[in-house]
Amino acid sequence: MTNPTLLATIAGFKQEYDREPAGVWSAPGRVNLIGEHTDYNEGFVFPFAINRRTYAAVAPRQDNMICVASSFSKETFQIAISDIHQDEKNGWAAYPFGVAYAVAKLSGKPQTQGFDIFIDSDVPVGAGLSSSAAIECAVGLALNELWNAGLDKKALAKAGQLGENEIVGAPTGIMDQTASLFGELDHAVFLDCRSLEAKAIELGFADAGLELLIIDTKVAHRLVDGGYAARRAACESGAEALGAASLRDLSQADLTRAEEILDPVTLRRVRHVITENSRVEETVATLKAKGPRAIGELLYASHESMRDDFEISIDELDTAVETALRHGAIGARMTGGGFGGAAIALTPIEKISEVTLSVLAEFEALGYAKPEIFAVSAAPGAKREL
Ligand code: ADP
Ligand code: MG
Repeated sequence: MTNPTLLATIAGFKQEYDREPAGVWSAPGRVNLIGEHTDYNEGFVFPFAINRRTYAAVAPRQDNMICVASSFSKETFQIAISDIHQDEKNGWAAYPFGVAYAVAKLSGKPQTQGFDIFIDSDVPVGAGLSSSAAIECAVGLALNELWNAGLDKKALAKAGQLGENEIVGAPTGIMDQTASLFGELDHAVFLDCRSLEAKAIELGFADAGLELLIIDTKVAHRLVDGGYAARRAACESGAEALGAASLRDLSQADLTRAEEILDPVTLRRVRHVITENSRVEETVATLKAKGPRAIGELLYASHESMRDDFEISIDELDTAVETALRHGAIGARMTGGGFGGAAIALTPIEKISEVTLSVLAEFEALGYAKPEIFAVSAAPGAKREL
């Protein structure tokens, strides 16, 4: 019981509610190693749970209220379980309320037992590491157990998504929650976004002397020309023109046909998704056959595809990737939705400081905001701590 955030969570609970928690549950943030903009095309993603976690200390109440407090904000919120609905006034509490609503709903029986909840976390917020899934999965796991709701990890991932879609009001997929729940030490989660089958694949980063650097550019996602919606629409129209239910059903063999019938922009969008899906599969195969030092080129090919075909990179992300590669990273790419956010760089441990200092210097020279750079490793998924 030495983890400082775990201790702070318990202390925070005691201070807020003047009693002991009945238990503490935790769930990690995640980083996506490869497989970008493939999720809503029913393709493949390959994220891993990181060694940054959100903790939820919980104790039952005498009534049917869900009360939430967090080190993250002075604002506390409470609501009767049956009253949970989408409401701007929920603020950050929309995440725990949403998962409470969803776990209750998916349990198939009315849940009337209320709880006091206190949340603390060392997952950076808004760095593309899914602090939202971490909070949903920590609280979801706790309520599932305390309500005896009987949901397995697959259903809990669904609950996180349902809460985020219906109560937070964010139209997100299921990758983040799946990574947070199915993560394992030194493994990434190969997720088929059509069947929702999730499989842990060994990474072997530590044995190979590698770490994954996160380079958070601090550039807020600039939604130029409604970027995300436009990309989704292009994928849908491209699939339709090619007679496929989704881009998942197409392979590189279809690209010649795509070149003949699609307009140049749609062709580029479609080509990114098709090639990205095969890069994810190739990454999994390469890890098994040759180990993690062999996946560097696939990571960079993913970056080039997002930069040139999907056109969602920005100068800061390109600079982070190119500088990291020049100074010893074996693979690097932008990660996340695009137009801002973070890049990742798979880096030999002895090159970590050179890569870090070089990226900082390059950003300063170019007059960019100071990026935040730190290493993450693949950690266990959501679990009960106490
Ligand atoms: P991310 O990429 O980090 O998931 P999101 O915008 O999806 O970014 O989710 C971030 C939001 O989740 C925060 O604005 C806040 O409302 C909520 N959140 C995350 N961590 C915490 C926490 N420890 N305590 C309270 N709210 C949190
Ligand atoms: Mg999120």
